[in-house]
Amino acid sequence: LQEHIFKTTQARYNSTQASVENDISGTDNKGFKGHDMLAPFTAGWQSTDVDPLIIEKSEGSYVYDNKGRKYLDTLAGLWCTALGGNEPRLVEAATKQLNTLPFYHSFWNRTTKPSLDLAKELLDMFTAKKMAKAFFTNSGSEANDTQVKLVWYYNNALGRPNKKKFIARAKAYHGSTLISASETEEEFSTRLAKNLEDLILKEGPDTIAAFIAEPVMGAGGVIPPPATYFDKIQAVVKKYDILFIADEVICAFGRLGTMFGCDKYNIKPDLVSLAKVVYDIGLDNQENKREARERNMVERVNSISPKFQEGLKAFSDSPIVGEIRGTGLILATEFADNKSPNDPFPPEWGIGAYFGAQCEKNGMLVRVAGDTIMMSPPFIATPEELDELISIYGKALRETEKRVA
Ligand code: PLP
Repeated sequence: LQEHIFKTTQARYNSTQASVENDISGTDNKGFKGHDMLAPFTAGWQSTDVDPLIIEKSEGSYVYDNKGRKYLDTLAGLWCTALGGNEPRLVEAATKQLNTLPFYHSFWNRTTKPSLDLAKELLDMFTAKKMAKAFFTNSGSEANDTQVKLVWYYNNALGRPNKKKFIARAKAYHGSTLISASETEEEFSTRLAKNLEDLILKEGPDTIAAFIAEPVMGAGGVIPPPATYFDKIQAVVKKYDILFIADEVICAFGRLGTMFGCDKYNIKPDLVSLAKVVYDIGLDNQENKREARERNMVERVNSISPKFQEGLKAFSDSPIVGEIRGTGLILATEFADNKSPNDPFPPEWGIGAYFGAQCEKNGMLVRVAGDTIMMSPPFIATPEELDELISIYGKALRETEKRVA
């Protein structure tokens, strides 16, 4: 029976998928088929050999493709455009800067005024623990790479050349909130802290330099920490003189409803990585109304996030939804059979991809990672746009349910 279901569903998926792709791609992009660009994160149905979706323009919470089709961008341009796609203040600030000084570097202690202003602003903004300096890179990835160099340098300088290893939370942790169902969140956190301590002791505390964690795991599937998790983890790393690096690349600047994820979970990091929305902050810096702006961003997220969270979590009883989880303006849906998180759909069915394609067909872009769907709309999303988001999500979910039934 399983095999029958698998074959028929897969056949139906293949044909529907083809029609979805036709609907989306049409014929205009023919010249781009097998195009010259190797795009990141292109696997499965989003293969680099199929016609790409070519985005040409952004406006508020929406983006437009080269055929004029409009999409609600529920990812805020891969977490970056928290203030929307064409915020006039940012456009004006960028234009002014491009006309004045489009490029200069910060080598050998030569730098620019906007860099100094932004460094000061970031240090003032981050209050969870006083940071000494800001170091600029071009992306979150480079920020984390730089953390490694800084931490190695630090331990060399202290005469501890063997204390070089980093601990990051393994993929296995990404599914962990599901396991926690059998124990309280606090017991679960105690177990995770013990696992971390066991790992440190096994590797040798003198060899472990740093522990890195996102306040809420984002790309790994939007996994908020269980209660007391960071209290317990911080006690362990402190005990063994291990630095704590907070990767705030997607949590910072209001997305969780606090200015930083560290504020929300009482994390006192030694180093912090910021990216994405930092560009908005940098450009907007000239206005010098920091406190009001910060308050606005956080207030805005807190005013619209209940609608976003509750509106989507209302779909939790769908027979193909294992879990819908999130906080603030970040949320993930994990598809699973029979509502059992331990009973995932065969990956070949492409349930997540099918759902994503249905959203796209209905004018909405989401992030698909296997059978997990992620959404993190811009802070400027209006209640009407959230209604639209919830409505398209519902439509795509019903279509996906039909396909599985
Ligand atoms: N850290 C986290 C938590 C991220 O989510 C990402 C990207 O999404 C990165 C780092 C990498 O940032 P970037 O894409 O700016 O290199």
